[in-house]
Amino acid sequence: MKQTRGSISSAKTNGGWLDRRRFFTLAGAAAGAATQFGPSPLSAQSAGPTLTGPTATGERSCDVVIIGAGLSGLVAATQLAKQGVDVIVLEARNRVGGRLLTEVPDPSMPNVFIDHGGQWISPNQPNLMALANKLNVPMFQTPVAANSLSIDFHNGTLYRYNPKIDPYPPYWKQPDRKAAEDGVLDLEGMYDPIDLAAPWEDANAEKWDDETLVGWLADNVKSKLAQALLLRGVTGVFNSSPGPLSLLATLFVAKSAEDLIRKFKPTGPDTRFVGGAQQIPIKLAQALPGRVITGAYVYGIEHSADGVTAYAPGLAVQAQRAIITLPPTLAGRIQYDPPLPAARDHLTESTPMGWVIKVHCIYPTRFWQQKSLSGAVASDSGAIRVVVDNSPPEGTPGILVAFIEGDGARELAPQPLPVRRAEVLKELGTYFGPDLGQDAANPKLYLEKNWGDDAYARGAYGGYWTQGLWTTYGPELRAPVDSLYWAGTETSPKWNGKMEGAVQSGLNAAAEVLDAL
Ligand SMILES: Cc1cc2nc3c(=O)[nH]c(=O)nc-3n(C[C@H](O)[C@H](O)[C@H](O)COP(=O)(O)OP(=O)(O)OC[C@H]3O[C@@H](n4cnc5c(N)ncnc54)[C@H](O)[C@@H]3O)c2cc1C
Repeated sequence: MKQTRGSISSAKTNGGWLDRRRFFTLAGAAAGAATQFGPSPLSAQSAGPTLTGPTATGERSCDVVIIGAGLSGLVAATQLAKQGVDVIVLEARNRVGGRLLTEVPDPSMPNVFIDHGGQWISPNQPNLMALANKLNVPMFQTPVAANSLSIDFHNGTLYRYNPKIDPYPPYWKQPDRKAAEDGVLDLEGMYDPIDLAAPWEDANAEKWDDETLVGWLADNVKSKLAQALLLRGVTGVFNSSPGPLSLLATLFVAKSAEDLIRKFKPTGPDTRFVGGAQQIPIKLAQALPGRVITGAYVYGIEHSADGVTAYAPGLAVQAQRAIITLPPTLAGRIQYDPPLPAARDHLTESTPMGWVIKVHCIYPTRFWQQKSLSGAVASDSGAIRVVVDNSPPEGTPGILVAFIEGDGARELAPQPLPVRRAEVLKELGTYFGPDLGQDAANPKLYLEKNWGDDAYARGAYGGYWTQGLWTTYGPELRAPVDSLYWAGTETSPKWNGKMEGAVQSGLNAAAEVLDAL
């Protein structure tokens, strides 16, 4: 391991834009901001013992500084620490987990949890499952009675149907089904040869990056129903505006995150973590005592081939290498000295976040079971287009999760909470029909999390790639700059956008940095 500590401080701290004067001016302001582990949103029981971090002011040094204590940052830190590397993780929030956030909404029901962020684990996600097993976080499937009916709201009409008997709602005619299945076959044929590590190098990359998914669907899928289904299958990963998502990025996502494929070739049911997904990062952080500093918003990074210094208010951390795990657009908001190459900067400024508001409604029971419903709803109108049963393993209370995505989020987010809540409950009332609508519209508890307004996420589920971006700047997504390395789910070739992608990106970045030390 090279011993380069200190080289950057002598080279850069005197006279640079992040000089000592500025650092110490900011130190005072940091007194309240730089906290140790803040209170976990989980109950004391599920969060484990209170954690103590180091005093988060002053100057520190380590081998590798990691920016962001989400899943990817904590996996990278764990992996490096296992190899004897001295790591420090700097996290802007007063909690760990990033886009994983679990809440126990009612202290009188400590086993009832909700995940405001990521929650579902899919089959074929070996690293995430192995991690959960190692950390003793059990998984479960939402208990849904066999032969339950799904709800579909189409053109203002309600349908109830059994997807086990026929996967399509009753109004789907044979030509629509064939168009959907042909469309999937066509997309599969196109994405099969794509190298997930470098989609921009595919022989057809230029052509596909000039097109949008919406454009391709309009030209190649001759059924509006099939077009909507395929669009949903892909944009469900990002909640992007459908327009600018490039066809090349679509093909990448369909292969990488398998959402589209799994609809047509199910590999098994999705599962969830008993007690919530945020336990994984919390447990990872607990096993890194004194290494994770929360309340440390990194605003600047000095870097050279020899090392880095990361600056948070009142805190400077010097290291040989840095791993930056933020979604690309947030990574681009840090000030770098020297400035990053233009190509990297252009990539980050052109990788917008999708937008979702995740809503939970809690009811005394799963009232939908009275009518043999599964709680699942799909709708082609309204702010809420997807609803799923999100009840705890015991099945009580009844919990529905609903997603306000894309345009719906853009429209409803600026409204006051009572207006948004009224709209959501009105739509739920409609979907559950004349027999159950009253129950659906009157939950005991209504909870929501608007990820677009979250200062340290700025959207959900993740960053996405607009037309032409990848063939112009794709290689900059992961290419190290000096001593700076990139991680985060958006950088993962496999399961991009998902928790598994975050884990894999943390492992990949740790391996790269270990090689370089
Ligand atoms: C509503 C929602 C639902 C989802 N559903 C699923 C699902 O069901 N299944 C699934 O697999 N995935 C799901 N995801 C995606 C999954 O949550 C993410 O892929 C994963 O959590 C990303 O982890 P990460 O470490 O890459 O990024 P993040 O969790 O975003 O971590 C980055 C960290 O950096 C911190 N940070 C930001 N700026 C700074 C700064 N300047 N200085 C210091 N720290 C900073 C952030 O606070 C954050 O903690 C969902 C996400 C959301 C939001």
